[in-house]
Parts: sequence; structure tokens; C-alpha cells
Amino acid sequence: MKKVYIETLGCQMNKSDAERMYGMLEHIGYSQTVEPKDADLLIINTCSIRQLSEDKAYSQIGVWGKMKKSKPGVKIVFAGCVAQQGGEKVIKRAPYVDLVLGTQRLYELPNLIKRIENGEKIVSIDEKPFEESEIKINRVKGVNAWIPIMEGCNNFCTYCIVPYTRGRERSRKPELIIAEAKKALSEGFKEITLLGQNVDSYGKDLSEGQNLSWLLRQINALDGKFRIRFVTNYPTDITEEVIDTVIELDKVCEYFHIPMQSGDDYVLKKMNRRYDYATYKKICNNIRSIIPDVTITSDFIAGFPGETEEQFENTLKAMTELELDYSNTAAYSPRERTVAAKWTDLYIPEKEKEERLARLNEHNRECCLKSNKKYLGCEMEVLVENFEVRKNGDKVITGRTRNNKIVHIPSEKDMTGEFVNVRITNARTWYLNGELIGG
Ligand code: SF4
Repeated sequence: MKKVYIETLGCQMNKSDAERMYGMLEHIGYSQTVEPKDADLLIINTCSIRQLSEDKAYSQIGVWGKMKKSKPGVKIVFAGCVAQQGGEKVIKRAPYVDLVLGTQRLYELPNLIKRIENGEKIVSIDEKPFEESEIKINRVKGVNAWIPIMEGCNNFCTYCIVPYTRGRERSRKPELIIAEAKKALSEGFKEITLLGQNVDSYGKDLSEGQNLSWLLRQINALDGKFRIRFVTNYPTDITEEVIDTVIELDKVCEYFHIPMQSGDDYVLKKMNRRYDYATYKKICNNIRSIIPDVTITSDFIAGFPGETEEQFENTLKAMTELELDYSNTAAYSPRERTVAAKWTDLYIPEKEKEERLARLNEHNRECCLKSNKKYLGCEMEVLVENFEVRKNGDKVITGRTRNNKIVHIPSEKDMTGEFVNVRITNARTWYLNGELIGG
């Protein structure tokens, strides 16, 4: 068998695409390797959300390009969001690349690989979505299976590249999603996470009644003990029906990831987000009033073009006032083709952006610790995700609670994949410590 190595950068959607790639390539005679030097086929699955990730992708293929000089038979594929955006430019910049594969062409991969094996050089970035067939997924064995339920986004936030790289919103056929969930469960996976840039839009292009709540019900009805999660929600698209479904269905976890991006109304408007601070707050309060112990996490950007110190401080205030359990943070990074990238005269100097990001991170740490302390002494169910023997000899299992808190627990035994009951004994910034109840 020939060997393929895939390097994945960026979000869970890319990781899920990599699983699909492995699944398809196995059918045409490739097996996985974790060593790029042993591979006949090298694939980089790129991310363009920030300049840093894009630079990383080019730097990685630069290394592979040098390797190819001593092993000319190796084929190099440049896939994902940077490929979608770059097209022909990728080959100009890196002539050793054999295939530039756009985000909508994933399912053509086996045919394209056969063609590059015959010496062709191909750029395939057509934006017309490819009809998905029965794709066999080759998941790396584990506890959590990530299953995309939709692709693309219609929101066009002024800083975001996703609508340009992933196209407009499209729902995957429910029968394919359900079949994938069943297969993952039969292989021993214990948690299904439904993925999408905006999961609330699921079903808008399907038959009436087929929406996110409906899909959650179909998956919840599958046999066995397992958990269901979904990410990401757009604040104002979260329906009462979805909130009620989380309460009603036993397998659906009490967790929402709701990017807020800024706590300032003027900045939110400039970002083309369709809500203000008061609306976001109302949404959080509503979810918390209906779902006890729910965890709400968010995303924030520091140093959006034109953001004043006062506006930035409104973000810090929002994070604290809303008692967000955790937030992903980033300094604004201009992305070609987006609206905000053109506001060069409003760019915040790098040093100032980094300084704001550091303050945002400090607030985030405080919020996380405060959130974690709420669980001291509580009994919680943990799904164990791994087991490690530390350098000092300590044996520890690590897993997540239903509301997505990470817990480290001393255990002599590897209990990966098991549900265990735990008492929380200590709260740290990023995780909890616990002890097995009756263990
Ligand atoms: S909703 Fe999310 S994915 Fe869509 S444009 Fe805005 S930030 Fe990007």
C-alpha cells in the first residue's frame, strides 16, 4: 500500500475533512502514516482564518518541497481554505505542489489523486458544491466523533473569510448524517458533535420540519449510552425549540458555544453582527434560566479596525458581566477579500492589538476560574477521553462533564470511553480536579 500523511491546521471542520480524506484514500490503496518522510502523498489541510495559519501552511509545504527534491515521486496536495482562496497563485508560489484542492472539491479527491499520479498538475477550486455520495469515514479510534451537518455561511461578518472559502450555507442530507452517527457509535465512539459554521441554519434548505431540533431528536433516538453536542451557534438564530430540545433530550449536553466577538454595540455593527450587547445578554439569560448548569462559551476579537480603548473596555466588561465560562480570543487579522480588511486607515497598531489581547486573556482566565469554582464539591458525570502515566508516576484519567468542563482524576486503570461519577475536589483556571465516587 502507498502511504499518505495529512497535516491539518485550523478548526474541527478541517479535522473532519481530513477524516473524510483518509476514508476516501483508503479505497484507492493508501494507508496512513504519521511520518511525512515515509509518505508517497503529502496533504496539507489549510486554514485561512488568520494570517499566521496561512503563513504556517506555506512554510510547511516549503519543507515538503525540499524533501521532494530527493524523492521526486512524492505528490503534494494543498487543500482547504487557503487553497480555495489562492487557486493558481499557490502553484506560482510553490511550483512543487501537484494539486490545489478547494473546499468544495473534497469528494473529487480520489479521481484527482489518480490524475496527479499520472503526472498532471491540477487546480480544482470550483465553488459549485459537489454532490456528496456515500463517503466511508476512516476515523482515528477515539471517544468523540465530529460530524459536519452543514457547510458554509451566509452571514458575511466583515472580518470573516469563511463565506468566501466555504461558500453559502448547505445542509448535509440527514440520512448521511444519521448513518455516520450510527457507524461511529458501532465503532465505540461515545460522543457525537454536530458541526457547522452556523448549526442553527440546519435544514433551511431541506424539507419542512427538518431542522436542528429534529436532527437532535433523530440522533438521540439511536441505541446506546452516548452524548450529543453541537457547535457553533449564531446568537440571534438560537431558537426556543433548540433550547427546549436540550432540556428534553437525555443525550444532548448542556453546552452552547455562542461567539459574541465584541461587547460594544458600535463595533458589533461594524462587524455586521446582527445583535447588540443587550440582545446577546438576553439570549444568555434566557438559556441559563431554562437549562440549569449550562456552560456558555464565546469568541472575542481584540483590536478590530477603529476599535477605541473605550469600546475595547466594553468587551472586557461584557465578558465579566455575562460570566462567560470560557472564550476563544484572538487579535484582529485582516483577511483578503473581506470588508474590514479594506479599512487600512483604521487598523490598530500591532503592539496595541497584542496589548489588548493580553488584557482580554487575563479577563478570560479570571472568568474561567470563577466558573470552575462553582463546581467545587459537586458530583458530576465525566466521559473519560484519555489515560496518562505522568513523569512522576501519577496515573490520571481526563475527561469532560456534560457541560464541557475538563476534569483530571487519579485512576490506576485506563477507563477511556467509560462514563464515571466524580466529586470535584479542586478548581484550576482551565480544568477541575476530581476523585472517583466509590472508586
Ligand atoms: S457567522 Fe461565523 S462563519 Fe459566518 S461570517 Fe460570521 S464569523 Fe464567519
